[in-house]
Amino acid sequence: MAEVPFVDLAAAHAEVEREVLDGFQRVLASTAFVQGDDVREFEEEYARFTGAGHCVGVANGTDALELALRALGTGPGAEVVLPANTFVATAEAVVRAGARPVLVDAEPGDLLIDPERAAAAVGPSTAAIVPVHLYGRLVPMDPLLDLGPPVLEDAAQSQGALHDGQGLFGAVAATSFYPGKNLGAYGDAGAVVTGSAELARTVRLLRDHGSERKYRHEIVGFNSRLDTLQAVVLRAKLRRLARWNDLRRAAAARYAELLDGVPGLVLPSPPGTGPGGGQEHVWHLYVVRVPARDEVAGRLGDMGVRCGVHYPVPVHLQRAFRYLGHGPGDFPVAERAAGEILSLPMFPQITAAQQERVAAALHKILG
Ligand SMILES: *Cc1c(COP(=O)(O)O)cnc(C)c1O
Repeated sequence: MAEVPFVDLAAAHAEVEREVLDGFQRVLASTAFVQGDDVREFEEEYARFTGAGHCVGVANGTDALELALRALGTGPGAEVVLPANTFVATAEAVVRAGARPVLVDAEPGDLLIDPERAAAAVGPSTAAIVPVHLYGRLVPMDPLLDLGPPVLEDAAQSQGALHDGQGLFGAVAATSFYPGKNLGAYGDAGAVVTGSAELARTVRLLRDHGSERKYRHEIVGFNSRLDTLQAVVLRAKLRRLARWNDLRRAAAARYAELLDGVPGLVLPSPPGTGPGGGQEHVWHLYVVRVPARDEVAGRLGDMGVRCGVHYPVPVHLQRAFRYLGHGPGDFPVAERAAGEILSLPMFPQITAAQQERVAAALHKILG
């Protein structure tokens, strides 16, 4: 029997192939490989899509986070508050901007940053708070926005997630268009979105050697531009993103039905009870919790069901962040989750039959 893949990027490509190839031909003919028209068009389209006002395309999501932090004035001596259970890039960006990561534990339900612990972590040196809309679920933002320091949203997993029709809540958000993200390029890409013309301008300078006019450099910047070829892909996929996110929501609802009552399996809580009407989750990942996770994942693999773990080691237990002085037991919610979480196959084109195979396998293993 064919495997159930964890993601199926070929299925997404099939939907956009014609448009992408036409666009590539156009770019190849114009040879505007860097800062071409498609980059500007994509930035306008993505700014409109998020309702943010301004979008600046950059080379990847990690750079987007770093440049946004720098634009907020984060640097040496500053602290940045962020969750311990995130992809390591969130913490890396803080270090690269010259600041010190101040990690906080997750809340046990949805595993998003715990708002009370975030409040307790804010101090006089806090330059920014960086909530992560992990798995595609929006962090409840009001408690964080009330704390004072500017909020930079790590929106790498939440493209298209809305609350009350809004897609940006803090001063600025950074996103990644890594191929596997809900809006994925064919290589690395990222963006910063903001309602502030001034922040957008600073990020624009930072991404292109501190320059707005060729060979005039106002600040020391970086080379972190978005390729024109990637912008072509992103424009084609952006036209389908809202529909693809709807399909992810339908797939999540189907999992909830199929997996109801599997012994020992904890399903993600359904969104949609608040004013967001279910739009506040775009199901980048469908993450269940199960004891003996590694054994269950191994048996699923043997049965042809490909899963992932996001993420097996929280930031504070990574060797690279040992200098922060944390150890096991410091963030017990994140640590416990890291041993139990399991990401099931999830992508817009997943079929009912594929999901039924995933569910049948889990019923068999755990039943
Ligand atoms: C993917 C991701 C990033 C980093 O994006 P890159 O484009 O790979 O640099 C940052 N934060 C989170 C939460 C992510 O999932």
